[in-house]
Amino acid sequence: MNVRIKDENGKYIEIPTVVERRKNLTIILNRQAELRLKVPSGISCKDVQEFLLSNRNWILDTISKGRTISNIRSRTELKSGDMQPLFGSYYPIHLLNEGDSIRFGNEFYINRDFRWERRELFRKFYSEALQEYISGKIGNYSEKMGCHYKDFTVVKSLSKWGSCDHENRVEFSFLLAMCRPEAINYIIVHELVHTKIKSHGKRFHEELEKYVNRWREERKYLNGNYLIFRAYSGY
Ligand SMILES: [Zn+2]
Repeated sequence: MNVRIKDENGKYIEIPTVVERRKNLTIILNRQAELRLKVPSGISCKDVQEFLLSNRNWILDTISKGRTISNIRSRTELKSGDMQPLFGSYYPIHLLNEGDSIRFGNEFYINRDFRWERRELFRKFYSEALQEYISGKIGNYSEKMGCHYKDFTVVKSLSKWGSCDHENRVEFSFLLAMCRPEAINYIIVHELVHTKIKSHGKRFHEELEKYVNRWREERKYLNGNYLIFRAYSGY
């Protein structure tokens, strides 16, 4: 079953549906940023229609987010004026005829010769920026929290914001450099809590909450922006 909804311009958008064992209807962008309507098996057309009507704004927001993501993804060559995120804000790209491959100073100054190398250029840039940011934070946090991590590295992970192994080595995804500082701090603290408590149980969240009381908002922000930031990374 495919359903359709009229967008702001009166154009019909087809939404492919996925039938699942679930209680409620929901609309999502999958990992490929494609729109999907998830429906419980045996649902009636009337229920689907009602869902579409009563959640119209949310659905249109999700459609527009999907479009934003495919626009960002379709960029191959960097252009002056394109925006790019850093630590939760967006800054314009400015192509120059000479100089460093990439340099930041309230704008991303990029040597024109590197305009096709968006992925590698930004991956290196974000990794270094995040390394510096975390270096300035992690010592204080771990002291305050009384935990011992072995070392930390910034990695090219696209599937996890951070991780902590059994030897208490912590890793952070370079994608975090695009996120707002509060969200990065949440991930730093999250991984540091793992040096003491490995699983995500009640005790884990109690400990987390001592240092980041808005962790739920930060988690929501990270989940809500993942596909967008990933698109900006070019990966
Ligand atoms: Zn965790």
